[in-house]
Amino acid sequence: MHALPMQKAALLCRNEGKRRMNREYKVGVVSLGCSKNTVDTENMLGYFVSQGFEITSRAEEADVLVVNTCGFIDSAKSESIETVLEMAEYKKQGKCSILAVTGCLPQRYMQELKAEMPEVDIFWGVKKYDEFTDAVIAKLNESAPFTDCNVPRVLTTPFYSAYLRISDGCSNRCTYCAIPLIRGDMCSVPMEKLLQEAERLAKAGVTELNVIAQDTSAYGKDLYDALKLPELLNKLTEIEGIHWVRLLYTYPDTVTDELIETIEKNPKIVNYMDLPIQHVNDELLLRMNRRGQKKDIIRIFDRLRKSESKFIIRTSIIVGFPGETEDSFRELLDFVSDYGIDRLGAFTYSCEEGTEAAGFDEQIDEEVKERRLHELMMLQANVSSKLNAKRVGTECELLVEEIEDGYITGRTYAEAPDVDGQVTVPLRGRYDIDVGDYIKIKITGADEYDLEGEII
Ligand code: SF4
Repeated sequence: MHALPMQKAALLCRNEGKRRMNREYKVGVVSLGCSKNTVDTENMLGYFVSQGFEITSRAEEADVLVVNTCGFIDSAKSESIETVLEMAEYKKQGKCSILAVTGCLPQRYMQELKAEMPEVDIFWGVKKYDEFTDAVIAKLNESAPFTDCNVPRVLTTPFYSAYLRISDGCSNRCTYCAIPLIRGDMCSVPMEKLLQEAERLAKAGVTELNVIAQDTSAYGKDLYDALKLPELLNKLTEIEGIHWVRLLYTYPDTVTDELIETIEKNPKIVNYMDLPIQHVNDELLLRMNRRGQKKDIIRIFDRLRKSESKFIIRTSIIVGFPGETEDSFRELLDFVSDYGIDRLGAFTYSCEEGTEAAGFDEQIDEEVKERRLHELMMLQANVSSKLNAKRVGTECELLVEEIEDGYITGRTYAEAPDVDGQVTVPLRGRYDIDVGDYIKIKITGADEYDLEGEII
């Protein structure tokens, strides 16, 4: 990184009025051009320090990077642009969340730069650097409204388990879904921030991380132009104290072989695949604007079923989508019965204002929807009973969630929090077990939702 007038800035400023909220943020400024520009940079740094920011000369550790440019002659303009692009690389890598360009160049070419450099968050001219720092603070709050390790978080889950939200919004456009209208396109949280958040959670006693998002398997596509979930999962398991990492809400077409192999190879990532498919009829999948067809869903299910890792598969299904005929509903029932889905969340189609599907013809009567839902759930109770019965005699780890009246209740790798059943195990005089412990058990009994076991 270019040399920064750091000490000077520190000397010019006193920290009175330092705001606690910015204390953890680091800012790095690259100062280009003449000595007059250097003074502007010094003033700017002064404002940052007075707002509680820490100044860094290392671009890789800055949360905010500012290039204070010179636009006087062509070579200075080129140098400015090259420097901005160089700094933009740090933003891609994760730590930096705000890239700002100030000084002469934006003063002269504000509109052109805005159009040509979308990677820059703020362009600012040559004046009012106090307002500039306010704009940076506002942007920081806006760019990290969730999962920012600096934002205090009060866990509402038990002390040993937490959700880690890795992105917000969704860039898919399923015709029935209002989420993209509400939350916008997918915005992945930089990996470094997620790892910091996970470390903080682990230090607070969390051992089970449940990785969530609207579309978890697409993680990184927007930020790194690559599917980064396998890398993220592996890194999460390296954090001291993390015992289980569970993946929820994947989208079939981004459940790659690499992702499945990552789960198979890493014992800390539980063999549980939450794979919402919504339907299997090709015509309906198209109307839903889901990517992939029935054959693609079957390919993943076959892959998971053939795995030696004994994957538990959860999915969600919508019945009564506009245009669902009795035949296409039967096709769905056949699939559920043939492919043996362990966990199923089924819903009747709900017509959401503003979505494309709300305007579709062939809407289905509520009565028919309810009847189909009931039929599907009856079938699933049967399927689930059989699959749970197959687990009798197997050994696994149990996360202890409650100890009461001589019994432990908890979850194994096969049960996600909140949505799946529980396993009950008699305590039989054991006093050395606490809530949050992982113990070895053998499954001894099962019904369609819950299981029984014994300590081994
Ligand atoms: S259903 Fe899921 S994948 Fe489809 S648009 Fe909504 S949030 Fe995105």
